Amino acid sequence: MNPFLKNLNRVEFIITYSCTGNCKHCSESELRKNGGKLNADTAVRALEKINNAFTLQSVMTFGGEPLIYPDTVISIHNAARKMNIPKRQIITNGYFSKDNKITAQVAKNVAESGVNDILVSADAFHQETIPLKNVLLFTENLLKNGAQAVRVHPAWLVDKDNDNQYNVKTREIIKSFETLGVLPSNGNVIFPAGNALKYLGKYFDKNTAYVNRYEQDKKNIRSICIEPNGNFLNSNIHDENFLSRLAEYCPD
Ligand code: SF4
Repeated sequence: MNPFLKNLNRVEFIITYSCTGNCKHCSESELRKNGGKLNADTAVRALEKINNAFTLQSVMTFGGEPLIYPDTVISIHNAARKMNIPKRQIITNGYFSKDNKITAQVAKNVAESGVNDILVSADAFHQETIPLKNVLLFTENLLKNGAQAVRVHPAWLVDKDNDNQYNVKTREIIKSFETLGVLPSNGNVIFPAGNALKYLGKYFDKNTAYVNRYEQDKKNIRSICIEPNGNFLNSNIHDENFLSRLAEYCPD
């Protein structure tokens, strides 16, 4: 076993960088222009191979907005459930269609797909461009169809307890979910990158070295993140021999 991969137990799939939102705090603002989407069959085959080699504990789908391509998301989670991967997560902004019937049907399909940790991103930033009523409709339909562990997943500016105008608004939005019985996750504290640095720069201290909590130790890889074009770490899932390449992984 490659010593740098001995703790690998999680796979994350970026279904697409495309998004229905245009958030002020988005760290992926440049990538969103790329478009493209993950190939569902290739993703499922890759998940099987990686799970056989490493015994995964969790799989996550996110974006961009992953539910622009619901069939891809659902194929991955159905497969993850068959493989008995215990934790199966999605992060979604809950807005992928203006048609309420489509919203309801996709929510049903997601609820039935075996996802057991659903994080709905909602806060002052998302709701500048994403209608809250559509997100609440999606959430109601998840619950109606028996979805497990649905939480609202806010982004906080500076920190959760800071009373800036955005956090105040975010607390109001969270209350709308609480009326449905949906509680908040701890959420994220916004990292100064991409749009966040461009539009919210005044909230960040130039003398503070911010730590990106999503960056992992390259000598102790716990999670691999597969991009819409199949790229990850040192390989690509479209390469038939990607597991051999992964086994050769060596940090710079
Ligand atoms: S919903 Fe997420 S990916 Fe889309 S613009 Fe907002 S922060 Fe970026």
